[in-house]
Amino acid sequence: MLKGIAVSSGIVVGKVYKLVQPEIVLRDTKGSVEEELQRFKDAVNKTQTDIEKIKERAQGKLKAEELEIFDAHLTMLNDPEYQGQIEEMIKGDQGSDAAVKCVTDNMVSLFSSMEDEYFKERAADIRDVGHRLLCNVLGLKVPDLTTIDEKVVIVASDLTPSDTAQMDKNYIVGFCTEEGGRTSHSAIMARSLEIPAVVGCRGVLEATKDGEMMIMDATNGDVFLEPTAEQIADYTKRSEALLAEKEALRVLVDQPSITQDGHRVEIAANIGTPKDVDGVIKNGGEAVGLYRTEFLYMDSKEDFPDEETQYEAYKTVLEAMNGRRVVFRTLDIGGDKKLNYFEFPQELNPFLGYRAVRLCLDRQDIFRTQLRAILRASAYGKAAIMFPMIATISEFKQAKAIYEQEREKLIAEGVKVGEHIEVGMMVEIPASAIMADKFAQYADFFSIGTNDLTQYTMAADRGSKEVSYLYQPLNPAVLTLIKKAIDAAHKYGKWCGVCGEVASDIIAAPILLGLGLDEFSMTAPSILPARKMIRSLNKKEMEGLAAKVLDLETADEVREYVENYLEKREK
Ligand code: PEP
Ligand code: MG
Repeated sequence: MLKGIAVSSGIVVGKVYKLVQPEIVLRDTKGSVEEELQRFKDAVNKTQTDIEKIKERAQGKLKAEELEIFDAHLTMLNDPEYQGQIEEMIKGDQGSDAAVKCVTDNMVSLFSSMEDEYFKERAADIRDVGHRLLCNVLGLKVPDLTTIDEKVVIVASDLTPSDTAQMDKNYIVGFCTEEGGRTSHSAIMARSLEIPAVVGCRGVLEATKDGEMMIMDATNGDVFLEPTAEQIADYTKRSEALLAEKEALRVLVDQPSITQDGHRVEIAANIGTPKDVDGVIKNGGEAVGLYRTEFLYMDSKEDFPDEETQYEAYKTVLEAMNGRRVVFRTLDIGGDKKLNYFEFPQELNPFLGYRAVRLCLDRQDIFRTQLRAILRASAYGKAAIMFPMIATISEFKQAKAIYEQEREKLIAEGVKVGEHIEVGMMVEIPASAIMADKFAQYADFFSIGTNDLTQYTMAADRGSKEVSYLYQPLNPAVLTLIKKAIDAAHKYGKWCGVCGEVASDIIAAPILLGLGLDEFSMTAPSILPARKMIRSLNKKEMEGLAAKVLDLETADEVREYVENYLEKREK
């Protein structure tokens, strides 16, 4: 058995599908000219079928212009000049693999050297098609998530957001990666897409073979390789029970998040891309409490996404949420979130460095473009904005002033923008929690980022395995800061939410409720379990519980206290 970090809950039993690029080695031997020509023809046919299959799967998922890429690939594959040159080489006694490689490479360099942008871009298509064709000539598997047509668990070193976005949940029942942690990119995507996942599972690539069975228990991170028939039966049962439990919660989709004594809170969702909104609606999310807009920037290949691209994405989310609030967090890049097209300064501590609002205030061109895109989109729903990593009052005032300037400019240009846009901030640096009383006079709301607030309060890197014992969101020190932020917000008639992972922690919920938290924002699949918990609690009673745990000495004591309370309640 291997052990990883369970980041997206579920239990799955399926065949291993390893997502690794094949190593291309040309053959030492070759057949007769006829045999090589036949080999080439067969590979062309298989490549044709593969591309058609990918295109068929992508219908409805991709936009029309994206689907056209597949047509371009098919045209390329069947180009008489391309095929003719390869056949000529084979007739000249070259192996079919060497011929495909040589002609493809020549074409790629020819197209890459052209001045015209259109032809330059075609070089990438030729490379793609040629690679697939060559793999088919050599009988190598080209890993392609869209061609999978049986239930599999993806095993990979790590997954990119686009790998994750391509996953068809009908076939891909889970994924298991060597790299990653709870707050890594692929983990957040997995939760949004509701695909069970275990990450940080060292050794899984080496220990598995394509097509073997495996069991992944993504409730606790256990991964069983070559399971026995009994294990398969046992875990299939457990998986069914878990699904039934999940299904039973569906009755709560349209129910309010209201306590036994009639106190109402809001359970909102965290999203990373417009695609995540489906899950929010399906799970009864009352709002989007955190839209991590940086994902759009991280997915962009060449440059910062332009205003139009951002506007389209933001508008899509607002329209889909149909009048429910969407909190746009402005660009939170830096730390572990890097961009291909932007060079960050070399720093010893990037998490404490040039990032998020610090970068935005310095590179106002980037910041203003985003604010304009959000403001323009705000005409299509209920938008709110918050700034990440605010440490000082002056930062908040500067960010808000830039926002106001862009708003006024747009209005002067006659562009329609939303009328009542709340402008709030994340409380994720201890300084802002300590000074919450001051910040609450300027910000329209607070959203507490407990992932970072914990890391900075405990001085424990949230991604480090070595100091993970110190990563304690329920430490009374962190809870004290959370209380400070909530109290300050309420003193000035503002609302306060939590959008860090702790919002969906069933043990934290009674405490946060008792502290008076107004909004709990979490990944969509956590919404219904959280709502069930909130509906079972009594707010007045939780005020007592919160006061009690704040007086405890350690995070373990806090957890134990709440667990005991919940256990006793069950009896
Ligand atoms: C947080 O810090 O708690 C948060 C929600 O933001 P992120 O995880 O994106 O840093
Ligand atoms: Mg954060």
